[in-house]
Amino acid sequence: MAQVIDATWRVMPRVQFLGTGNAFSPYGRMHALVLIDGNILVDAPPTLLPQLRKVGVSSDKIDHLLFTHWHADHMFGFPFFILERTVVSNAEKSLNVYLRPKGKEILSNLSHVGFPGSLNEVLNDDINWLEEESGELQNSEWSYERFRVVHTPETDPHGYMLTHESGFKLLHCGDSGPCLEIETRASEVDVILIEMGVPDFVESPNHHNPSQVNALSERYPDATILVTHNFADAIGHKGGFQSPELNEGIIQLEDGDELIIANNGAEFMLKKTHEK
Ligand SMILES: [Zn+2]
Ligand SMILES: [Zn+2]
Repeated sequence: MAQVIDATWRVMPRVQFLGTGNAFSPYGRMHALVLIDGNILVDAPPTLLPQLRKVGVSSDKIDHLLFTHWHADHMFGFPFFILERTVVSNAEKSLNVYLRPKGKEILSNLSHVGFPGSLNEVLNDDINWLEEESGELQNSEWSYERFRVVHTPETDPHGYMLTHESGFKLLHCGDSGPCLEIETRASEVDVILIEMGVPDFVESPNHHNPSQVNALSERYPDATILVTHNFADAIGHKGGFQSPELNEGIIQLEDGDELIIANNGAEFMLKKTHEK
């Protein structure tokens, strides 16, 4: 994996956006997926393994897997991931899985449906099921705090405030419509990663639409807003929706974009895979 290194030869923290699409697989976008520093994942979409392969990250390098909620586009890759991690990549370390109560049961059932009889040992012995609402991510420079968001209630939806030891803060809002829990944190973070799952003509309290993302940026002009979990065609792709107009300063992510955190958290830059 190519690493970005600063002048002191320190490997710089980075957040890779391996997918920026919503559940409907818009043209040119894989399901939303975040990889931090090569060993922390947020969610496990159905195509998690191919998404990791694309950036040359082996499943056994992943130490931490944080779940936001129980929708298929965020969890159906889990059985594939733990099977491959054990059988092919021969992972020696346990996987730390961060989830809400009942999550262990949901993921275990899913794994038994997907690969009956093959994952009993892995589920029992090789996974640390962690239900704490906040904590340090061991062997990393990050800590997390989970917070409730507004999305399909049956999915127990949450987001994560991710804090780097430098002080840099990323607010991963999961899948959510506008909500108080996002508002109360938005003014203290550097970057807000927000889903824009629906276009303006869809009425849904459970997702942000472009007008709501624009309004968010007006309320929190100091935060950089990155848009993901999108319904629109990626750059260079046609056949679905067109990308909507967004306020200046809001950045529509594309698959493969990376956020690089420099100068000990004081600065960050977005490396885009495509330029318009
Ligand atoms: Zn989703
Ligand atoms: Zn969802």
